[in-house]
Order: sequence, then structure tokens, then C-alpha cells
Amino acid sequence: MGLMFMNYAIISDIHSNLEAFERTLFEIDRMGVDRIVCLGDIVGYGASPNECLDIVRERQLTSVIGNHDMVACGRGEPFNFNPIARDAALWTRNELTEENRDFLFSLPHQRQIEDFLIVHGAISDPDLYIFSSSEASIEFNLMVKAKTCFFGHTHVKVYYVYSHGRAEVFTDDEVELTGENLYLVNPGSVGQPRDRDPRASFLIYQHDEKTIKFFRLEYDILTAQEKIIAAGLDNRLAYRLSMGM
Ligand code: ZN
Repeated sequence: MGLMFMNYAIISDIHSNLEAFERTLFEIDRMGVDRIVCLGDIVGYGASPNECLDIVRERQLTSVIGNHDMVACGRGEPFNFNPIARDAALWTRNELTEENRDFLFSLPHQRQIEDFLIVHGAISDPDLYIFSSSEASIEFNLMVKAKTCFFGHTHVKVYYVYSHGRAEVFTDDEVELTGENLYLVNPGSVGQPRDRDPRASFLIYQHDEKTIKFFRLEYDILTAQEKIIAAGLDNRLAYRLSMGM
């Protein structure tokens, strides 16, 4: 039977937020999935990069690399980062253990799992943000072997459907994957949601039933914020967590 017909938890953009990550894993474990898949940006912004990476490695999560991960492990430089993101990425680079740096360095930009694809930003470019149906259309044209692609990077829960030559955007909490349609699906962010809902965001993909369900979870935001301030990171990185921005 191999990998066929498993149930997946899809998570993205943990961003060194240990409190959100642990809360999410607790819920995923309670639900009982076969495999946890991560769409990158395990680190950056938050105060617990090594703690989050230790968990990702120990639990053998399947992951791709994100733009913050690239800078943190030295595979890239933060040329297009804003000053707050850049400072946090370079702080993270300095904090990482050798094992965690090597692990990030080894991650690919995309992976095919069963019949779906995982990327951080977009298929065409890992740094690109998919924010509209027209941007999604470009990506749908690149989906030759996969009918579903999970992406992150925007920190906004959303999905796009390509049907009869058109891409449309949806924000429902449940999706039934049907027919010849193509899907681009973003689970939202575990550690720094930006859709004005501060709760951690993730999804479950039930491969056998061809359904996707989105979930939100409250977590201990205060502790995550206190750690950011104690680490000397920019206060605004703490503040935005309670705003969901
Ligand atoms: Zn991110």
C-alpha cells in the first residue's frame, strides 16, 4: 500500500513560535493523521528557532525550505526583507545549532508527495506571493503532474480552484476535491497568522475522501510574546501576534 491514501496534516509558517507549534501538534496528534507536512518558514520572526527545528527533525516532518529558512541557514541573504524581518532572520542565523542549520540547508524548494505538490511561495518562484486568482492562474499552468498544490508564504488561509479554464478564490473551511479541477491551497500560518485572526491555522487533507478541512486554534500568545521581547527581538513582532497581522 505504500504511501497511498494517507491522511495528512498540512502546516506552514511556524516562524519559531514554539507555543503555537506545540499547540498545533497536540491537536494534530489528537486527530490522528498519518503524516505531517510543513510548507517552510520553520524559523524567522519568533524566539524559539532551535526548539521548533528540534521538533521538526525528531518527528521527521516532511518539509520544504522557506525564504526565512534560506537566510537563517546561510543559503540566501535578506536583500528583499524589510528591516524587522531582516534583523530577526540574522538573529536566527546566529542562534541556530549546527544540526539545525544543516537540516535547513538540506531542504528542497518543492516536493511531490503522492499526487500533490508542496511549495513555500509558488511553483514558479519560491519567493513569489500568490495573492490573487490571476497569480494563481500562472501557477495552475505549471501543475502538470499534480492536481493539488499546497503553498504558504502569505500567512493567509485561502484556496483557489481552476475549473473550465478559470481560477477562482474561496475561503470556506471545507473543500471537496472534485473531477478535473486543480487546487492551490494555503493552510494559513501556525506561528504568525495575518488574516486578522490571531489563532494558529492549519489543515487536514483526507486523501482517501478527497477532502480538505481548515482549523484554527487558540494558543498561549502571551508566552510567545514574552519570549520575543526577552530575546531582544523587535517589540512589533510580539505585538502583531495578538493582532493576527
Ligand atoms: Zn513566512
